[in-house]
Amino acid sequence: MLNLCSLVYETMVVQESISGATREGGLAPALELCLEGKPMRILVVEDEKKVAAFLRKGLEQEAYSVEVANNGKRALQQALSEPYDLIILDLLLPGLDGISVLRELRRQHVLAPVLILTARKEVDDRVSGLDAGADDYLVKPFAFAELLARVRALLRRQGSDRSATLQMADLTVDPVTHQVTRGERHLELTPREFAVLDYLLRNAGRVMTRTLIAEHVWDYHFDSDTNLIDVYVKRLREKLEAGDEKRLLHTVRGIGYVMREDAR
Ligand code: CA
Repeated sequence: MLNLCSLVYETMVVQESISGATREGGLAPALELCLEGKPMRILVVEDEKKVAAFLRKGLEQEAYSVEVANNGKRALQQALSEPYDLIILDLLLPGLDGISVLRELRRQHVLAPVLILTARKEVDDRVSGLDAGADDYLVKPFAFAELLARVRALLRRQGSDRSATLQMADLTVDPVTHQVTRGERHLELTPREFAVLDYLLRNAGRVMTRTLIAEHVWDYHFDSDTNLIDVYVKRLREKLEAGDEKRLLHTVRGIGYVMREDAR
């Protein structure tokens, strides 16, 4: 089911691709208006028909707009072509598994919060799910009330967090438009540089190892060759400090990198 907001959004995307315009001004007023009174859209990715039907029915009773994808490939197609406010993702799927779906979504900058569903024994799956960019998890079987509580919490958090502008000193990063500025200066970053900066800034104050950065931004294990991270950080830092601004991206020798205001 398509609701009004996704139609407005799609129209915007089509207009943008025709005119070549970018979304620099943020969301179009029509979409903003629409978002105020719209039902939240949830994508349920679940191959078990019974569970999927149970989730759809329960969530629709709570006035959410629900779509179901019954395999990973469909889920990816839907989530990449339509905006959802939340994705409920079962990890055990035929074909493309949940973790791969999640990684690809995050790689393509789909910011919707993701709640993963795992079986009781799959502790490793929970860990790799969270590492791959999931926001929360629920262990099957779960009570619907518990799911609803998680859904509400994630939607609340999304409103204030996910798409909100990130800031440190005079550095501003807009995760929606990908605009980065230092004071009045506009920074041109490549998508990878942006991803590194976004990741470090979301974890401001915490030292992130090269391996962690590699896994989140490049989506695989580098094992020994993490020099690539150093190259990206060096380029990113040159852009960040091109106007002789104060250093915000610090090297922690032998460990990794950290974004912070003081020079400790
Ligand atoms: Ca399943």
